[in-house]
Amino acid sequence: MSDGAGRPLLEVEALEVVYGGAVHALHGVGLAVRAGEIAALVGANGAGKTTLLRAVSNLLPALRGQVTAGRLAFDGRDVTRTRTDALVRAGLVGVLEGRHCFRALSVRDNLVAGGLGRGSGRGAVRADLERVYGLFPALAAKRDVAAGLLSGGEQQMAAIGRALMGRPRLLVLDEPSMGLAPKVVEAIYRVLTGLNRTEGLTLLVAEQNVRLALRHAHHAVVLENGRSALAGSAAALRARDDVQALYLGGAARAASDRSPDSRVRAPA
Ligand code: ATP
Repeated sequence: MSDGAGRPLLEVEALEVVYGGAVHALHGVGLAVRAGEIAALVGANGAGKTTLLRAVSNLLPALRGQVTAGRLAFDGRDVTRTRTDALVRAGLVGVLEGRHCFRALSVRDNLVAGGLGRGSGRGAVRADLERVYGLFPALAAKRDVAAGLLSGGEQQMAAIGRALMGRPRLLVLDEPSMGLAPKVVEAIYRVLTGLNRTEGLTLLVAEQNVRLALRHAHHAVVLENGRSALAGSAAALRARDDVQALYLGGAARAASDRSPDSRVRAPA
């Protein structure tokens, strides 16, 4: 189901974020995510990716973080004035801070929790469960297993599945590839890009792995030390000599996605 394709669903303008009144994590960062597109946020450790995703979900106050300037709007709502649960009900659903699952609960109960968070009724939850099992057959096979016993890849699938149970309009993901084998990463991205293509699901994905991000996203913003260093279409960024040299390990090198060279290095 397309969501007014092309319209800005998320707008971030000149965003400044400070933690604990002292650590200035973002400096004037801007980003627009249009309905129906996959946007990537790439950057090295500490560049500010997680902070931006927390800001987008209005999770900063709980971490003594504060938006001190700029604008953040989801579908026209001022994010800083909207509670996280209201943002979820409006369609902004995140998979942040690792892949939180309720470890003692079964896969099924974890997924059901995602549907209830949105206020879905029983029938809708049942239908959405079957849909998630169809997308991630590995979860269907382990529906009665405690989430804490799943592999890392399966836990990531469960976390994404739980978010999908909330029927997101914008799905926000923090490093879904982190620590996972290339085959598992590909399987997860295949599902995400498939949902984007077939249903117009809008995605904002933070990734350290630039090669991976630029292969799957339509647009990308590169963060360096809390500032937007580069932005543009993934195709244009991939073609740039400086991006090739700095982030992709040179044009001639066909290194795998797990190569350290495809990760963003901290600027000198
Ligand atoms: P990583 O991939 O390591 O998570 P990142 O790009 O997501 O990196 P952030 O985690 O957003 O970067 O960190 C940006 C800056 O904000 C860093 O200097 C970090 O030390 C600081 N920071 C992050 N969280 C907090 C916090 N809760 N309190 C204080 N400072 C923080």
